[in-house]
Amino acid sequence: MAERVIPLHPHRPAPQALHVPAQALVQGASLADQLGRPLRDLRISVTDRCNFRCSYCMPKEVFDKDYPYLPQSALLSFEEITRVARQFVQLGVRKIRLTGGEPLLRKNIEILIEQLAQLRTPDGQPLDLTLTTNGSLLARKAQSLKDAGLQRVTVSLDGLDDAVFRRMNDVDFPVAEVLAGIEAAQAVGLGPIKVNMVVKRGTNEHEILPMARHFHGSGQVLRFIEYMDVGATNGWRMNEVMPSAEVVRTISAEMPLVPMEAAAPGETAERWAYADGGGEVGFISSVTQAFCGDCNRARLSTEGQLYLCLFASQGHDLRTLLRGGASDAELAAAIAHVWQGRSDRYSQLRSQLPADASSATSGRRVEMSYIGG
Ligand code: SAM
Ligand code: SF4
Ligand code: SF4
Repeated sequence: MAERVIPLHPHRPAPQALHVPAQALVQGASLADQLGRPLRDLRISVTDRCNFRCSYCMPKEVFDKDYPYLPQSALLSFEEITRVARQFVQLGVRKIRLTGGEPLLRKNIEILIEQLAQLRTPDGQPLDLTLTTNGSLLARKAQSLKDAGLQRVTVSLDGLDDAVFRRMNDVDFPVAEVLAGIEAAQAVGLGPIKVNMVVKRGTNEHEILPMARHFHGSGQVLRFIEYMDVGATNGWRMNEVMPSAEVVRTISAEMPLVPMEAAAPGETAERWAYADGGGEVGFISSVTQAFCGDCNRARLSTEGQLYLCLFASQGHDLRTLLRGGASDAELAAAIAHVWQGRSDRYSQLRSQLPADASSATSGRRVEMSYIGG
């Protein structure tokens, strides 16, 4: 039988081999990268598949039925994910976010959540354990997620108008089911719930005010995300980005906003409060206001590659170490070593380029659905 040749994947560059350094491991508390940034936040992508085809993330023309998704054997198992996560926690991680693709499509995700919920920081504290979802399966799964130990959810929702929403998810999914998911999550105590809206000029900016009105006073925090040049398939153009400052002005004209203090260093969203006491809104402005300076996030891809930046062109191969018999101490040492060498600050560099430049790195970038948002 002819040998099957597996082609190099167009959106998953070959990973960099990870080495266990000879020198002793630096203790987590003092672990810092080249720009002095600690390691606090770990985002874990549990699947590269999704039931939506948002054009800014998994455009239908590319992610079609022939798209080479990862085979099951390539995925980290729940035990492998938990083992890696435990090392990250030893090195300073305090927050874990499950993402994807659509994380609720990963079979038995509740089992992984149960395992992660048992992890403790070196001083015995539980982690901040959360998950980002498109909400399509949330009404059905909210209770089991809560029971498994999930603390909060973030739900992505790009508009309230059913026709606009169906067009944006590009699989004709009705908005009412996502809203029911948000309600179910609220009812079982998966709050405070954050709702992420990607604003794409020319597509959904007229949904800004209806969304702001809907979530005003609800206790659910709406966050506006600037459309980012992540990945290589969404055909990103600067003129489709609506700067957060413009969104602030749009909302303020009807419902005045006042700036708030950041809750924690490294927080992605700039927070504003409604002057009338109707809660807060957030703005994630990675295009117009880079926040690389205190970025403390690491990303673990679906197949166990460690990425140091959302825009990185290459990951570091933790899976080979994991499956090759490395001890926990060796895994932790390898992760610490990679983090200490980190100097990524893509958004900051891109903001120094002319407005019409499409990329600040020459290498290929991985897709958001692969390393998670
Ligand atoms: N499927 C889940 C969801 O949509 O919530 C989790 C994964 S998704 C990749 C994570 C987040 O990234 C979502 O809030 C999504 O809106 C955001 N996202 C994806 N592509 C983006 C882009 N090009 N610019 C800005 N945000 C993007
Ligand atoms: Fe799927 Fe989320 Fe990407 Fe939309 S943003 S295609 S829901 S992974
Ligand atoms: Fe962090 Fe990279 Fe985003 Fe900058 S561009 S905030 S370094 S993930």
